[in-house]
Amino acid sequence: MTTSPLIARAQELADTLLVPNAERVDRAEVPASHLDAIRSSGLLGVSAPEAYGGAGAPDSVAREVQEILAGACCSTWFVQTQHHTPVRMLAKSELPVRERLLRPLATGELLAGIAYAHVRAFPRVVVRATAERDGWRFDGTVPWYTGWELNDVMLLAGITDSDEIVFAFADAREQPGLRASDPMRLAALTAARTVSLELDGLWLPESSVLLRTPQEQFALLDIPRSTNTSPAVFGVAYAALRVVAENGEPETAEALRARVDEVRRKAYDLADHPVPHEHVEERLTLRTRAYDLMRAATTAAVVSGGGRTMDLRSPAQRLAREGMFLLIQGQTSVVRRAHLDALSG
Ligand SMILES: Cc1cc2nc3c(=O)[nH]c(=O)nc-3n(C[C@H](O)[C@H](O)[C@H](O)COP(=O)(O)OP(=O)(O)OC[C@H]3O[C@@H](n4cnc5c(N)ncnc54)[C@H](O)[C@@H]3O)c2cc1C
Repeated sequence: MTTSPLIARAQELADTLLVPNAERVDRAEVPASHLDAIRSSGLLGVSAPEAYGGAGAPDSVAREVQEILAGACCSTWFVQTQHHTPVRMLAKSELPVRERLLRPLATGELLAGIAYAHVRAFPRVVVRATAERDGWRFDGTVPWYTGWELNDVMLLAGITDSDEIVFAFADAREQPGLRASDPMRLAALTAARTVSLELDGLWLPESSVLLRTPQEQFALLDIPRSTNTSPAVFGVAYAALRVVAENGEPETAEALRARVDEVRRKAYDLADHPVPHEHVEERLTLRTRAYDLMRAATTAAVVSGGGRTMDLRSPAQRLAREGMFLLIQGQTSVVRRAHLDALSG
């Protein structure tokens, strides 16, 4: 079996840069130099069309790259993972912004963040978009925006009073109508520089619009998609199992690894299924199962390392906290319900 050059590059970045610095980064901030290395690696264009400077790699390669990065340094992974949604959406868009931004995003010249999870709470509207002067004004509060002062552009979403979602690009910096909070101090991934954003009449021209879509239509695709398991869950689980083996418990690691492998194979088969709204129950069961196994793996890393794992320089405690974060990352109400039902059932 040949390994994709992109997977090899991700592994090399993990081994030489991300893993050796992961505990230091966890206690501080993702350094711009980490993101420079990712920008110049070609990994930001893994799923982008070749005609725009990307690699046009299949989803299986993109997932494995994400697993490797998440298992190496979850904070760095989280900053760069935001970028891939705008790239995929640009590749599908037929609006002028595609010609302006797809190439610089595919090549890593520009790094993108996203500010759109809040539209999933519809009918609760926290960011309103209103047509104004050949463009759109945005008002409200974006509760979470990761990669502040690390990325260059943000994909922002707001909802109009006719329940349409407007996705548009903005420069990711303070400007009239956009103010950021201080970076949040969190139980995990503080290093990823997550802020909240106050929007008070931020105006973006029509030429920055990536997509306008009725909320109902967006939810039809987005909600089933959210039932797939994030590759990061497997990345953190495998990283924890490596720690278990290093702690002198290879048999425990192997037993858990076989179970993770099986769930991963099934979850990815379903992620590749062409109809996202089919097999939703099965996808949710696998997602929940993957969480259970990740928690078992990070717990085993802590238990096998004993008291020294409480040291902030220990990978076991870092992975356990990162795993806790992944339990709510990209959570939608259907995912939350399924997870809680599994925990209480
Ligand atoms: C550290 C951190 C960084 C993050 N960074 C980003 C980022 O960069 N960009 C970004 O877009 N998101 C980001 N998120 C958001 C993340 O994806 C969300 O936390 C996750 O989707 C759950 O949302 P919540 O906790 O804000 O929503 P909650 O309000 O707790 O809701 C949980 C779920 O229930 C649903 N829900 C809530 N209220 C209602 C309602 N009234 N009606 C119907 N459904 C409802 C929501 O759709 C949501 O999916 C970040 C989160 C964290 C913790």
